[in-house]
Amino acid sequence: VGQGGLLSTPAASCVIRKYRTDGGIVMSASHNPGGPKEDFGVKYNIANGGPAPEAVTEAIFNCTRGISEYRLLDAPDIDLDALGETRLGDMSVAVIDPVADYEELMHGLFDFDAIRALFASGFTMRFDAMHAITGPYAKSILCGTLGAPEDTVVNAVPLPDFGGGHPDPNPVWAKDLMDLMFSDAAPDFGAASDGDGDRNMVLGRHVYVTPSDSLAVLAANAHLASGYKAGLAGIARSMPTSAAADRVAEKLGIGCYETPTGWKFFGNLLDAGKATLCGEESAGTGSNHIREKDGLWAVLLWLNILAVRRETVVDILKANYYSRHDYEGIDATAAAALVDDLRARLGSLPGTQSHGLTVVSADDFAYTDPVDGSRSEKQGIRIGFEGGARAVMRLSGTGTEGATLRVYLERFEPDPAKHDLDPQEALAAIAAAADELAGITARTGRKGPDLMT
Ligand code: MG
Repeated sequence: VGQGGLLSTPAASCVIRKYRTDGGIVMSASHNPGGPKEDFGVKYNIANGGPAPEAVTEAIFNCTRGISEYRLLDAPDIDLDALGETRLGDMSVAVIDPVADYEELMHGLFDFDAIRALFASGFTMRFDAMHAITGPYAKSILCGTLGAPEDTVVNAVPLPDFGGGHPDPNPVWAKDLMDLMFSDAAPDFGAASDGDGDRNMVLGRHVYVTPSDSLAVLAANAHLASGYKAGLAGIARSMPTSAAADRVAEKLGIGCYETPTGWKFFGNLLDAGKATLCGEESAGTGSNHIREKDGLWAVLLWLNILAVRRETVVDILKANYYSRHDYEGIDATAAAALVDDLRARLGSLPGTQSHGLTVVSADDFAYTDPVDGSRSEKQGIRIGFEGGARAVMRLSGTGTEGATLRVYLERFEPDPAKHDLDPQEALAAIAAAADELAGITARTGRKGPDLMT
């Protein structure tokens, strides 16, 4: 147990692997307020440090059907604030420093001296822990070990209700950080992590780094960090994540895997040594150092890259335009009909012209896991245009609130003179073509998306 009951999800994965335990139990309400009367979740991670696969949870469930008795032990509460071991019957409970093991792992992966020199040179940063789990980790590593000023980390004390906020690191919920990073007082680098510390948001001065671009940048520059200097075995990304990472993999001459959404697909590739880095557009990035995505790890890798390259985030980020458009609360029947109709027409789309773009490919993404051979179908519709531009459409949240249609748009811009366009402007033709080909406006009556990131 982490001191104070605190352990981030990536740190839990680290501890399971380091001490070779049979597994670990993570209790978290994700980014919702937790507690007896609030949200609560229990997750089991297996010995590799990753979430239990279905075969294991299924076996656990089957065991519960055969339980005939259980025993209780009457004992005083354990003081979770005090480090040390306590006996509970035949069991020993160790309360450990939640940060130490994780920090040691990070120290082995990154060039802490280079990052320390970066901060010493006057480099400025703001890390928003959103009153969630990464506060103690960021304080100890960034301010303690790496010498960043104390005010670098804000909202650093984890609170049961997250201080009334919603620790989901995106431009909506981390608005204070967004506002700062786009103001005249913006520091050189900004970052935030979520409720349990596995996701991240990264910003430069006056620029938001999409998780898709972040994966590509980290993959292209990972060799600058000591833990990855031998190079990467491969890169894995979820299907809606931009293909920028594919271009990096091609250039590096390494494997590239496009998987369905869900971290378990990455776990198989990491365990098999086929991928070293992996990421999803929903702000999860990670590597083979553990078997969870890891928010602070991504931030430290960015810092290591900035410390070596000594360039601004904007200068590093160029050439790829990517955006996600969300249409929320669509009538579920209309949304399903839109997707079914588009699916039925996929074969006839190649060769079609729309808003000056020619469709060259259209399919419904399916995936066969190269490690265990399992098959996942109907993962989202991909439409490829001449020149490498792409639109992806997926439905999610088909609940009582209606469905959300997510449209992912991207294109690569090789001309440096066109690297400073407004992203929505740069993607306008692809958005219009996706709308026309799928009949979004016609079928939903919506004039535009509710959210563009
Ligand atoms: Mg999380």
